[in-house]
Amino acid sequence: MDGRPVARAIYQELKEEVAQLYDKGIIPRLSVFKVGNDPASEYYVQNIQKKAKKIGVVVDILNFVENTPQDMIIAEIQKANKDPKVHGIMLQMPLPKQLNQNDVVMQIDPRKDIDGLHPINMGKLVLGQDCFVASTPAAVMELIHYYKIPTKGNRVVIIGRSNIVGLPLFHLLVQKNAGADATVTVCHSRSTNLQKIALEADILIVAIGKPKFVDHTYVSSNSKVIDVGINEVYDADAETNIFVGDVNYIDVFPIVKAITPVPGGVGTITTASLLKNVVRASKL
Ligand code: NDP
Repeated sequence: MDGRPVARAIYQELKEEVAQLYDKGIIPRLSVFKVGNDPASEYYVQNIQKKAKKIGVVVDILNFVENTPQDMIIAEIQKANKDPKVHGIMLQMPLPKQLNQNDVVMQIDPRKDIDGLHPINMGKLVLGQDCFVASTPAAVMELIHYYKIPTKGNRVVIIGRSNIVGLPLFHLLVQKNAGADATVTVCHSRSTNLQKIALEADILIVAIGKPKFVDHTYVSSNSKVIDVGINEVYDADAETNIFVGDVNYIDVFPIVKAITPVPGGVGTITTASLLKNVVRASKL
């Protein structure tokens, strides 16, 4: 299951929507708060800016030095909350130690919280109400729908329970509505019999942050595997660093019904999902 056509379809749709918004005098705009000089974050936010430009969404990257005090970040967030030209606010993670993620996220106006991190959006998600959903779980749902993977009544096993991936996915897939209605099990580092549970899955979603962790012992010929993991590892043959997923793709591929690659899978769709939220926020 290639992520690229899914992303292309989203961008195409967004391009048309943004053109209509321009006709109404609305220019969708995202403010990205980036604190410190983490190179991976730098690359990620620049990529968002590049992709956004292609569809007409403006992305302002607000750079703060590593030791910026929390009060200053909060003051800037409040400014962006009040600015009618800013539709989305994104806090690039990880944050430096002096910043408390929960406290800072609480300051973002939930209507501009395009990363779906604010407790109001999280709470609405749990209740099955309309809300902003974090871009990675949203990307997984886009993939499931694009490839018409049946969910209703089917067994989904998610390995990983983080607030940005595993938990939102659980709520999205268990919801009582078309495109969900699955029977969902969430596993984590304390789960026992992980393989046995994974083998029962029609859809196995892996988000643990351990390179090539899931091998052939976790899958059957019925498994549709969605690998959320992105891990940078040294490849001795290539004599360079490469990106691999949390699933051992080569080991699993001959057995399973379908699988997403890394790179080129979920990660490819994530930025498109994020920009979809910005466009949506600009209509509120
Ligand atoms: P976290 O570290 O926040 O969470 C990892 C989860 O995996 C935890 O719930 C942890 O359990 C569980 N876990 C860890 N080891 C095991 C194990 N041996 N067996 C079972 N469960 C285990 O990671 P994230 O959710 O942030 O990210 C997960 C992966 O997804 C990473 O590879 C990351 O790079 C990738 N990612 C990809 C994105 C994309 O756009 N494609 C975006 C975000 C992340 P416990 O709770 O018990 O500690």
